Amino acid sequence: MYSPKVGDGLDSLDTPSMIVDLDLMEANIKKLMDALLPTGRDIRPHLKTTKSAILARKLNAAGAKGGCVAKLSEAEAITAAGFTDLLITCEIIGPHKVRRLVELFRKHRGIRIVVDSEVGASAINDALAASDIEDPISVLIDVDVGLHRTGVAPEQAVPLARHVGTLEHLRLIGVQGYEGHLQHLHDREDRKQQCLASMKTLTETASALRAEGYSIDVVTTGGTGTAEFCASVPGVTELQPGSFIFMDTDYRNAVGTFYSNSLTVLSTVVSRQGERQVTIDAGLKSLTTDSGLAECKDRRYTHTNLGDEHGCLTWEDDGTPALRVGDRVEMVPSHIDPTINLHEVYYAHRKGVIEEIWPVDSRGKVQ
Ligand code: PLP
Ligand code: MN
Repeated sequence: MYSPKVGDGLDSLDTPSMIVDLDLMEANIKKLMDALLPTGRDIRPHLKTTKSAILARKLNAAGAKGGCVAKLSEAEAITAAGFTDLLITCEIIGPHKVRRLVELFRKHRGIRIVVDSEVGASAINDALAASDIEDPISVLIDVDVGLHRTGVAPEQAVPLARHVGTLEHLRLIGVQGYEGHLQHLHDREDRKQQCLASMKTLTETASALRAEGYSIDVVTTGGTGTAEFCASVPGVTELQPGSFIFMDTDYRNAVGTFYSNSLTVLSTVVSRQGERQVTIDAGLKSLTTDSGLAECKDRRYTHTNLGDEHGCLTWEDDGTPALRVGDRVEMVPSHIDPTINLHEVYYAHRKGVIEEIWPVDSRGKVQ
């Protein structure tokens, strides 16, 4: 039976398989912690990238405090896998989710949520009021700091806080403002200046709420491309970077190689198609393409095309060794979070020896 084990070499893995270079991953974590912990900010890494309770625990052991998840169903999966200090960063809307939230909160009172509408806040309050749970749930007001995805306009934060203030089962603890539109800006100075402007909006909103008497203890924000700038702004208390742990080619091309690509998809050459072209067994079902094609780690080979199950690698006639049927290559994902969502398990290796095997706990948890 096929059952790769700790202690086996990578050659024991069938393909495609998602593999993590532990030395590189640990270096990424250390770089982030060394850069951000001295700023005094809490680090609440976004687990929408790793989807793994084991990795959440590793990040916390390295200095993080808690984690973020995007969706309610991710929170269900990560808490079931044993990691419970979570902020759910997407609004929870609709009767099914609100019911599920009450059940999650019944088990884990530390869960934090965000709201950006009166109707959304009231629905959660009503469901808690109808339950036998007496503790209020901790809530952050989501503020739009320029992404225009979710969040109230800054001037709507105080009116929403007033409404939340009337809801007995919600306890306002802070604000969230995510500047996702800035993460991949190539020009570092431009990214910094736009980020500082977004942070001004966010911290001024927090101040306006405090002026109305609300205790705003948490001001949470930031991603891999901006966390260092967010951390320089007085009033920001918490940072939410996610991708730094593994990176991807899209992030590398935008923000550089401070963090390295520590995750690849191991793939096998399954067919030779002429002199300088082969087909590999990793296609759309193993590597996402929303941010372009994955790259071969050995950059002498160019990834030119892919279908559901296959990819195509070509190379120049410049002495680059020909790939042969049965050879293995490592592909570097172009966008890490949705690529991980395609896989069930990580094989974490050090110098080619499998050291740990981690489930992707919240794989497919999109609700
Ligand atoms: N915070 C929120 C609300 C996000 O949506 C994301 C990613 O989309 C992040 C943090 C993490 O950002 P990154 O993966 O760019 O580090
Ligand atoms: Mn992403």
